Amino acid sequence: MNNKKQDEILKKLKKYHEKDFSFSKGQILGSMCTQPISIAKKAYAMFLETNIGDPKLFPGSKEIEEKYLFFLKKLLNAPEKSQGIIGSGGTESNISAVWLAKRLNPSKKELILPESAHFSFKKIASIMDVKLVYVKLNKNYQMDIKEAKKKINSKTLGFIGIAGTTELGVIDPISELSDICQKENVFLHVDAAFGGYIIPFLKKLGYKVPDFDFKNPGVCSITIDAHKMGCSAIPLGSLMVRNREWLEKISVDTPYISSPKQPGILATRSAAPVAAAYAVAEYLGTKGYTNLVEKCMNNTFYTVKKIEEIGLKLVTQPTINVIAIKLKNPAKIVNILTKQGYKINKIDRLSATRIVIMPHVTKQVIDRFIPIFRKICKETGEI
Ligand code: PLP
Repeated sequence: MNNKKQDEILKKLKKYHEKDFSFSKGQILGSMCTQPISIAKKAYAMFLETNIGDPKLFPGSKEIEEKYLFFLKKLLNAPEKSQGIIGSGGTESNISAVWLAKRLNPSKKELILPESAHFSFKKIASIMDVKLVYVKLNKNYQMDIKEAKKKINSKTLGFIGIAGTTELGVIDPISELSDICQKENVFLHVDAAFGGYIIPFLKKLGYKVPDFDFKNPGVCSITIDAHKMGCSAIPLGSLMVRNREWLEKISVDTPYISSPKQPGILATRSAAPVAAAYAVAEYLGTKGYTNLVEKCMNNTFYTVKKIEEIGLKLVTQPTINVIAIKLKNPAKIVNILTKQGYKINKIDRLSATRIVIMPHVTKQVIDRFIPIFRKICKETGEI
């Protein structure tokens, strides 16, 4: 290929890329993703030319996938009989989980979930014959269990519990949901897309966090994303299911590729993000992830202190590395910050903004951001 032409195209791409906000420059303070650590980038590049959807063509890639799933099994206290499906992220895993619940119990259609559930469930209701039955939150912004029980009826398909909500990082009372679901014999899916890579390590650090994983016997499946706190490359999310035999229910025959059956939604998919997630898991291990989570939590408490010092109030004290700040006009503050090169999120429902203290949000980033945030809040009458 013509080198000059390549250079021209790459130059053009660079210009587009310069318009993007950047994790590494410390501009993105509201995302649940982060810059992949260095080994993830190297592993990703190595496996660009793969298709794990056709596993007999790429048996090495398939082995990596199995090894990565084994890592997740251990992380989530999954039983021997469990299995996982790797996909593009939390949305896809949530779709597959509800698809599975429906296939196990086709006549039921009501899905009970907290008001704090991620919008992926709205997509699910639009794709599948499922009715969302929302439950109010209690004073701690968790699913209200008393209210949840009242919603159960003969059409109940199952429950969704969230381990690390998108807005506030709150963990629903999964053990209580597990008891209910066992008693009622209905499916319980835990959306730990964000919290799955944090809560196990918080436990190791001595934080009092509830059991959210397969230790609860009623938990049937869990969503967990490596491209969030797993610090790996987008796109990678996994759905872990308690019983591998259930995957038959969401598998189809695949006559013209090298495996006879394929579970889940995707067909062709790259092994690059799988290799990246596995490489990060190998490189960091439990100790590395625990250190990373400890740093994020310390920076979270540091940020909370700074925010309270400037006279702002939080929606609630953070459980994990998600901080929601009450504001009179969050959209206005978010817009002004955007113009100044910072991206934080707004939560209209709670009249708040949200900052996620991901690994790239270091103390230096916070020290640079807080005076700017304070000035804007002062000028707009928030403080
Ligand atoms: N579930 C939760 C709790 C999330 O926070 C998110 C995204 O932030 C998702 C699901 C969707 O994940 P993805 O954007 O990877 O599809």
